[in-house]
Amino acid sequence: MTPDEYRERLLAAVTPMEPFPQPVNECLGLAAAEDVLARVDLPGFDNSAMDGYAVRHADVAGDPPASLPVVGEIGAGTSRVIALAPGSAVKIMTGAPVPSGADTVVPYEWTDRGTPQVRIDRVPTPGQNVRRQGEEVRTGDVVVREGTVLGARHLGLLAAVGCAAVPVRPRPRVVVISTGSELREPGQPLAHDSVYDANSYLLAAAVRAAGAISYRVGIVPDEPKAFLDALQDQLVRADVVITSGGVSMGDYDVVKAALAPAGVWFGRIAMQPGQPQGFGLVGDDQVPLFALPGNPVSSYVSFESFVLPVLRKLMGIAPYTRPAVTARLGAAITSPRGKQQYLRGRSSDGVVTPVGGPGSHLIAGLAEADCLIVVPAQETALEEGAEVRVLMLDRPF
Ligand code: AMP
Ligand code: MG
Repeated sequence: MTPDEYRERLLAAVTPMEPFPQPVNECLGLAAAEDVLARVDLPGFDNSAMDGYAVRHADVAGDPPASLPVVGEIGAGTSRVIALAPGSAVKIMTGAPVPSGADTVVPYEWTDRGTPQVRIDRVPTPGQNVRRQGEEVRTGDVVVREGTVLGARHLGLLAAVGCAAVPVRPRPRVVVISTGSELREPGQPLAHDSVYDANSYLLAAAVRAAGAISYRVGIVPDEPKAFLDALQDQLVRADVVITSGGVSMGDYDVVKAALAPAGVWFGRIAMQPGQPQGFGLVGDDQVPLFALPGNPVSSYVSFESFVLPVLRKLMGIAPYTRPAVTARLGAAITSPRGKQQYLRGRSSDGVVTPVGGPGSHLIAGLAEADCLIVVPAQETALEEGAEVRVLMLDRPF
């Protein structure tokens, strides 16, 4: 199977989560599941755009300077409704309601800032410095369309129109399990035959970066019973499970040994890294489980290629798959025939250069990379300057 075919199968196996209203502050990066309507006008009432004096335009329209008695002062948040008598002015602060009878605000800078009498040195245009009720948004207007991925600016607008909760699909809870009897927790001593567990940190962070919630489970040894016990414990809180390691042809490939009998599919995808993969729906709730290979780069590329699109579908965030951009190769490359290769690269000004070598254990090169160079299965060599497709890993899409 090609990576594209496999991804289509995975996407077909899941349906988006049911939307429900969530507090605005929890919605960053989620997609609005419905059109959201304004509950109020914006501005909500006629208010001043400047600190100055509210006046009737007719009273200041003659040859300057004009002189008016100042009959009071209105600050923002002042709820008293004040009416302005003809031939007078009232001090007003930015955002404060313009009193009835006034139609224009003269900024301080055009006056002598006087009280109880103010001298106005310039003639404003009618209505100047008054923000009119509803001039930007009317009650009932659609302020955020269904499908919009909510960023800081949308959340600010939603709050401004009085929306406390937004209908969004919830963030999937994703359990991440690392398998391998050689694994140790960072901070613990390392024997000559052991390695630190990088993948559970890598994958849990990638899950969070995708907008989902991650639960990182400690290391599980290469013992099917221990693995199945850990999985059983975790399923209650999982919308998705990701395992790393134990899916290939080794003698101790625990995930395969434990889950193949339970009907989870294990096979090979025509890609490198990330060739061995497993997927199935497990437990009473038929939770999607991704069994990813253990080499850190394989694990990460598998996440990018297969898990991320599924998480986005669950959250209703389109597009599900990261769009590729084109770039020119900064160095010649070779690639195995028959497998789509994902090379780690760094890109700058439309030129992409491989970093860190092709080995799927090379995690420092992965960290240095900012993109994956996608080399089609049929290519075996590409010259410097050749056009390639690139997945920019840190770019929102
Ligand atoms: P596996 O897929 O279990 O055969 O593992 C392949 C390679 O990846 C082995 O060299 C493992 O030691 C390494 N590996 C597996 N899991 C992890 C992990 N969580 N962190 C770092 N390396 C790992
Ligand atoms: Mg292993």
